[in-house]
Amino acid sequence: MNERNSVIEETVLKGIAAAPGIAIGPAYLYNKEVPRVEMKDVAREDLEAEIKRLRNANARSEKELQKILTFAEQRLGSQSARIFEAQIMILNDAVLMDAVEKRIASELKNAEYIIADEIGKYRRRMLESPDEYMHERAHDVEDVMNRIIRNIQEQRLFSRLEGESIIVSETLTPADTVIFSRNQVLGYATDLGGVSSHAALLSRSLKIPAVVGLRTATKRLKTGEMVAIDGYAGVVTMNPTEETIERLRGRARAFREFEEKLVGIAGLPAETIDHRTIELSSNIEFEDEIPFTRAQGSAGIGLFRTEGQLLRRGEYPSEEEQYRVYKNVAESIFPHAVIFRTFDVGGDKLIPDAIREENPFLGWRGIRMMLDRPELFLEHLRALLRSSTHKNVRIMFPMISSLHEVRAAKEFVRKAQEELKLRGELFDPKIKVGVMIEVPSAALLAEEIAAEVDFLSIGTNDLIQYLLAVDRDNSYVAPLFQQFNPAVLRVIKMVIDAGHKKHVWVGMCGEMAGDPLATMLLVGLGLDELSVVPSVLPEIKKIIRTIRLKDARRVAERALSFPTADDVKKYLTSVVKEKVPDIPLELS
Ligand code: PEP
Ligand code: MG
Repeated sequence: MNERNSVIEETVLKGIAAAPGIAIGPAYLYNKEVPRVEMKDVAREDLEAEIKRLRNANARSEKELQKILTFAEQRLGSQSARIFEAQIMILNDAVLMDAVEKRIASELKNAEYIIADEIGKYRRRMLESPDEYMHERAHDVEDVMNRIIRNIQEQRLFSRLEGESIIVSETLTPADTVIFSRNQVLGYATDLGGVSSHAALLSRSLKIPAVVGLRTATKRLKTGEMVAIDGYAGVVTMNPTEETIERLRGRARAFREFEEKLVGIAGLPAETIDHRTIELSSNIEFEDEIPFTRAQGSAGIGLFRTEGQLLRRGEYPSEEEQYRVYKNVAESIFPHAVIFRTFDVGGDKLIPDAIREENPFLGWRGIRMMLDRPELFLEHLRALLRSSTHKNVRIMFPMISSLHEVRAAKEFVRKAQEELKLRGELFDPKIKVGVMIEVPSAALLAEEIAAEVDFLSIGTNDLIQYLLAVDRDNSYVAPLFQQFNPAVLRVIKMVIDAGHKKHVWVGMCGEMAGDPLATMLLVGLGLDELSVVPSVLPEIKKIIRTIRLKDARRVAERALSFPTADDVKKYLTSVVKEKVPDIPLELS
């Protein structure tokens, strides 16, 4: 690098492609790091200025929190926004602030040191409490403390979102993703996280390019620095040269052109040349995604993640509130069908019950939690059943690991039906009930399970995680999260065959269903339904319409014969390039 000309060198960081698209703009470092506090003496003549520094910092912190509060209310509802109200209350606590000012004056020490000490005392006391709720609140107190300190030190804060920017952070929670989407966010780049994390799924739904698992992005990038995100390739370029920007714009153009080729496909069926029709539907989480899924030519909703409502509100909505959402979804998608998956909380998903687990993915998650909360589950099921009067609603249970859970969950459906009957409410008495196959034990028991349900849907995000023992959110093991691992392929085949033996349809709603490299294989393995992120739906349909079932079967059979994931991938890449030359695989 030529120092004298102060040329800033372009640097490429490799991560994981989490949401497609190209974004170029200034980075915004969303810094959750704890600011450093040093104890310093304050001269008596500077005392007034020090107190003023504190008061200004408090006023600025309040302004920022008010702004976040407004965003949170719009995006997540007033319930979730409460945490920010509580933080503002701490700032306005006259007793606390009076004590801080008095200590600055009597001890002649700097404002941030006294703030850290005073609020730190509160925080420690809360952390010592055996009450889990108090622990959660201690984090809020810590947040306020850090905010005031950063403002005293006049450091930039994430809430001051000015202009379009690319959010760079260590990690993003689903709530962060939603809150930032309110602003002019161009893209996300995170150190941690995997392609199947819920924050990544959300950025795909919100159509915001994202690259995760960059490991060192927050250490290397500064706020204001130019950065380019390639959400197709999973690459982030710091200080991109004109040439790189041109190349990336070219890629974005190529993708747009490819999308143009897909115009008109929305109204056509997902049918192979030799007339095998695949039910091609969408995965969504929010009602407002429905117009987009329709425009993309979706045959209904193959997975509606009902827990999205909790993300917006931070608590379980009442039966009436839930009913309004489900009814609206069922009516807007009619005459197509919607598969509502019952609350799948736990794991990496927001959970209203503040519990902490050592291994949340192996813990109180999905159906396990619902079976332990009968009142909540019945309320949820009643709302779902009431939305089924047009007979286009299906119910699906997540995280099933045994037949016992299937039976117990079905018993709850029966109970909810009884309750509605007593109340004189209408519902579809023949409502179809299915389960997700996403735990290896359920895959092994697929035949027994299929005998008691109406359909199976393979959830590869979790199935791969549990089958290969690879955390879906952990970037350190991301290369081991292999959807083309021969073990995964064999399990998928086993589930499809088991379902068909019991005459129930078998679909897939994990991310693998939306991978263009996998389409031919999945059709060939005999899947009846693919439920995908709406943004990729036309591309998958185009592939289905370009192939023959006969060829797909041969490809599946051959793919099953390879001993490693690399072999399978190499084979599929060559065969898809040959059979579906229109698909620019490198853009996917
Ligand atoms: C899955 O596990 O594949 C799935 C679709 O469910 P989720 O991603 O919501 O856990
Ligand atoms: Mg899952």
